[in-house]
Amino acid sequence: MSKNCCCEIVAIYPDNKKVYDRLGNSQNYSQLVLATGSSPHVPNIEGIQQSGVYTFRNLDDAQQLIARRTRSRRAIVLGGGLLGLEAARGLQKYNTDVTIIEHASRLMAQQLDDESGSLLREHIISQNIQVVLGDSVNRVLGDDGISGVELRSGRSIDCDTLVIATGIRPNLKLARDAGIAVGRGIRVNDQMRTSSADVFAVGECAEHRDRIYGLVAPGLEQASVAAHTIAGGTSRYFGSQAVTRLKVVGVSLISAGRCSERDASSQLRSLTWRRPDSSGYRRLLLQRNRLRGVIAFGDWDESSRAQECVQRGCYIWPWQRRRFLRTGDIWPVQEATNVNDWPASAVVCQCTGVKLGTLSKALLAGHCSVQALCVDTGSRFGHGIQQTNQTGLGNRLRSTCGHHEKRSGRSRRLVDRARKGTEGLLFNPFVPLS
Ligand SMILES: Cc1cc2nc3c(=O)[nH]c(=O)nc-3n(C[C@H](O)[C@H](O)[C@H](O)COP(=O)(O)OP(=O)(O)OC[C@H]3O[C@@H](n4cnc5c(N)ncnc54)[C@H](O)[C@@H]3O)c2cc1C
Repeated sequence: MSKNCCCEIVAIYPDNKKVYDRLGNSQNYSQLVLATGSSPHVPNIEGIQQSGVYTFRNLDDAQQLIARRTRSRRAIVLGGGLLGLEAARGLQKYNTDVTIIEHASRLMAQQLDDESGSLLREHIISQNIQVVLGDSVNRVLGDDGISGVELRSGRSIDCDTLVIATGIRPNLKLARDAGIAVGRGIRVNDQMRTSSADVFAVGECAEHRDRIYGLVAPGLEQASVAAHTIAGGTSRYFGSQAVTRLKVVGVSLISAGRCSERDASSQLRSLTWRRPDSSGYRRLLLQRNRLRGVIAFGDWDESSRAQECVQRGCYIWPWQRRRFLRTGDIWPVQEATNVNDWPASAVVCQCTGVKLGTLSKALLAGHCSVQALCVDTGSRFGHGIQQTNQTGLGNRLRSTCGHHEKRSGRSRRLVDRARKGTEGLLFNPFVPLS
């Protein structure tokens, strides 16, 4: 794009291969990539336009909520998905009474099964956040600003703030107006091409094989296929394994691959392990003994490796299945903790899609601190490094740099600092102000 095209694009003319911006400037293209993202879904609820009702999507939303949080005493978060939980935790930190209302029968309904959903609910309640399941808001109450909500069940709850976190709607207007095929998102084939041959779509606006992904990693995979195709390559995108890690409510929770109750009760075979005191729950979902999904509530050293195995559909041997049922672990301790055994393709930072091979190359090129690795690889705030450090990358960092004795203390401090500075900070607008 030239500098002339400086603001929002308002029209695409695929026949002439031109786009127009809001100022009326036009720009020719030979190939066009749509990465217009999505907007928050706001349900059609009576009174929802009252002041005190917020969405939770972009920097403006975050800034408005941050300004609100000191005044708010009772907040309701509508939607018990990943963002709803993060918003609830962000508000609750500032002594606001928070209630999450979720219409499904469990929290994070798309990522968890009933048992992990129920453990998460107990954990959230223990953090002084109320949870109402199987209900939704019928009406927003108040004349001059919100004073409460009336639920479908008939119950009313007082509040001064309502945060809507009920999912996303892809931004389709540009594509639709240009005559490009859309469904729930902009429809794309395995090359990420839309129905208009020279127009591609990637990220949250794209619908591939009936799926829309609301995470960064799939968008990056799609972008890489689109770029390869535009450069004349033959890459294909076959879909992504959704991996979700909950970061901010003080518990480790991971869900990767096919995990929802629908998947879990299909032809997938399920192996379950529980810690006797209910502080840990792990479930493997296997199809012909290949790992297709994993859910883990509570700390688990093997979670990154298990996630990697879901992505590759690894075979889980009978001894591993027995071991898992007995101990909750799949690999012998030695093996599980050695990051050197991971393939270069192992993703170590879900947020930016940085792979182990990329980090290794950066290490060999002499980037020996967490900061240098972040700058070189694009991994944010050392998050990926923080994860892998637990399983050996910290050692690799030190030994590759050849200063093991001299640097180990400093490297450890850097990693610790990265860990402290990043817990819950990625995308979470509340934490930096705490
Ligand atoms: C609070 C929050 C926390 C999140 N946490 C995580 C997380 O921990 N991990 C994770 O993987 N994902 C997370 N996500 C989701 C992640 O942010 C999105 O999946 C990702 O940003 C989608 O990227 P995108 O490029 O498709 O869309 P976006 O990031 O939304 O970018 C779209 C861009 O296109 C611009 N645009 C739209 N229309 C036009 C137009 N007509 N002309 C010009 N520009 C236009 C928009 O202004 C926007 O800048 C989170 C999202 C939120 C809201």
